[in-house]
Amino acid sequence: MLTIHGILMQRTYAATVIPPPLLLVVPLILFAFAGHLPAQGKVEMDQARERMVRVQIAGRGVENRRVLDALRSVPRHLFVSSDMRRMAYADQPLPIGHGQTISQPYIVGYMTDIINPRKDDVVLEIGTGSGYQAAVLSPLVKEVFTVEIIEELAASAKERLAELEYDNVHVRHADGYHGWKEHAPFDAIIVTAAAEHIPPPLVAQLRDGGVMVIPVGSSFRTQYLMLVEKKDGEISTRTLMPVRFVPFTRKR
Ligand code: SAH
Repeated sequence: MLTIHGILMQRTYAATVIPPPLLLVVPLILFAFAGHLPAQGKVEMDQARERMVRVQIAGRGVENRRVLDALRSVPRHLFVSSDMRRMAYADQPLPIGHGQTISQPYIVGYMTDIINPRKDDVVLEIGTGSGYQAAVLSPLVKEVFTVEIIEELAASAKERLAELEYDNVHVRHADGYHGWKEHAPFDAIIVTAAAEHIPPPLVAQLRDGGVMVIPVGSSFRTQYLMLVEKKDGEISTRTLMPVRFVPFTRKR
């Protein structure tokens, strides 16, 4: 037993032995890669993000400096799974699991711009998903309250937003149809799932002078992004553009 073990040990050792000059070179190579690869990845991501803002968002008419800077600052590639990372700054929505998607960057930019976020605003988002839209709102306003109906998505977004230190974003797992009454009224509401109708509780939780942006329509028909404004207790709606969002679902 001992002899056999001894032979095996020797063989294994012989197969992995490193000649002395390489002993120096190998750690150097490993060190160079460890420092270089992630850094190169980060530079590429930063460049891709800058291009995304310039071409897809500013290039399509979003002019608000603060909004453009917020989009420049949020690492979108950290809001998608690692196999989607290379596509993070592409001009399209991406899957985030559970049949849901992170919206196309332009749509996030457009919806953020249309509510004209100010630094003292309290904003409600329905449909947290990855947490990306909430992260973009974070540096622009005082507080962001965001509600997600899928428990796993709510949990992972909450963890991600905490890790990235978006400390003014508060995530709740619930059916967003009912808003988040305890923190109402809201200066603005952003809904990121297409509803068949505008939920009355959300209108009720909008501050007078506040705005809501919401995609309306079923998943089989054309949906329209609508702007809802409340002024002196009166509600007015305006159709902005045709869009395609995942459906607004309800808790049974
Ligand atoms: N804003 C997200 C994109 C979300 S996709 C982001 O930046 O990544 C739309 C999300 O709305 C999905 O995660 C979906 O689960 C959620 N959703 C659908 N109906 C909902 C409801 N009634 N209440 C809360 N969230 C809902």
